[in-house]
Amino acid sequence: MAKTAPLERYRNIGIMAHIDAGKTTTTERILYYTGKSYKIGEVHEGAAVMDHMAQEQERGITITSAATTTFWRDHRINIIDTPGHVDFTVEVERSLRVLDGAVAVFDGVAGVEPQTETVWKQADKYGVPRMCFVNKMDRLGADFFAAVDSIVDRLGATIAVTQIPIGSEGNFAGVVDLVEMKAIVWQDEELGAKFDTTDIPAELADQAAEYREKLLDVVSQYDDGILEKFIEEEEITAQEIRTALRHATIEEGLVPVLLGSAFKNKGVQPLLDAVVDYLPSPLETRPVQGISLKGNEEVIRRPDAKEPFAALAFKIVADPHGKLTYFRVYSGTLDKGETVLNSRTQKKERVGRLLLMHANNREDLDQVAAGDIVAGIGFKDTRTGDTLCDDKDGVVLEQLEFPEPVIHVAVEPKTKAD
Ligand code: GDP
Repeated sequence: MAKTAPLERYRNIGIMAHIDAGKTTTTERILYYTGKSYKIGEVHEGAAVMDHMAQEQERGITITSAATTTFWRDHRINIIDTPGHVDFTVEVERSLRVLDGAVAVFDGVAGVEPQTETVWKQADKYGVPRMCFVNKMDRLGADFFAAVDSIVDRLGATIAVTQIPIGSEGNFAGVVDLVEMKAIVWQDEELGAKFDTTDIPAELADQAAEYREKLLDVVSQYDDGILEKFIEEEEITAQEIRTALRHATIEEGLVPVLLGSAFKNKGVQPLLDAVVDYLPSPLETRPVQGISLKGNEEVIRRPDAKEPFAALAFKIVADPHGKLTYFRVYSGTLDKGETVLNSRTQKKERVGRLLLMHANNREDLDQVAAGDIVAGIGFKDTRTGDTLCDDKDGVVLEQLEFPEPVIHVAVEPKTKAD
């Protein structure tokens, strides 16, 4: 199962949201659709799924792994857990350091909420390309366009709306995909696990045309070829839009906006497609900077298996099998059993096992390489934030900027000394 995708088909993503917006549900549905979470592959329909969902709800399965690997359209998707609560600001920053792109999930009723604002600013700081998923479109009071306005007004994002809803609340029936100019209509009202691709419903034709125009308008600002065709009113293909949108999202911070209802299983597969289509691979992320241990000078580490090994430990978890040290590999390779240098302690660490964490199983790897996000067992004195590197070509990767601690000191009121 390991190494089934070349690096350009990796997506290291995080899902960020205000508490209750649906981060957990969306993550679970992603794992469900990618077929890794419950190993039910073939039973994707009917009562089996219903039973399964009911069970799942009862057990309340959540993603406990700091990083979970799954596959979609031959792409390896590593989902890095991003804490949703502002109290974990430092943890959020650390997870933002190791991901290449993010999906921000919103409640379709509430729109932008305070915690998303905080995480959004942090993601801005690290230049993380991202997209938005307006969730809970089935809820009473859900308003996609109001949520979109709040994304623009409160987050200051430049957005590209790529879908509009068909129906809302209890009648939320599907989306119009403005890239393909097709309707995606959920087949089964309860589950929505399957959908039909149909023509745009007549009553939505005007609104779809209006939003298609808006989409082309914004995309053409980033792509001269599309601009020319847009002005000349020539046909622009879906593939041309996707390519331009991908470039603008990764390079220019444009934010594609999609919608759905994770809980009702509506819209998660198109969301997965968008992750593949618009979020960057490790090759498209800016190379990581560091300070060399030898010369104390700035160095750049590229996502290349041939470069010296460099990785960042971002989470340590106690596990019955031993301490799991989650790390992101930025450059080079590391074999099971090999030693690496911890640049903080200046001591060598031997990694006994390398694990790829799936939703419900873990896979032993013989080697990891640039772009990978895995857990190692065997590190003795490695903390979160430590750099693990080649012992002959050592490096300290960019340090996180932690906010200054606020220290409250009780001060005696000054009395005027005579
Ligand atoms: P998190 O705190 O962001 O991880 O949010 P959860 O995924 O735990 O969801 C919070 C609550 O909203 C749960 O009760 C979910 O069942 C519910 N929820 C999530 N997605 C949807 C949705 O699409 N529609 C509705 N109606 N409820 C949802």
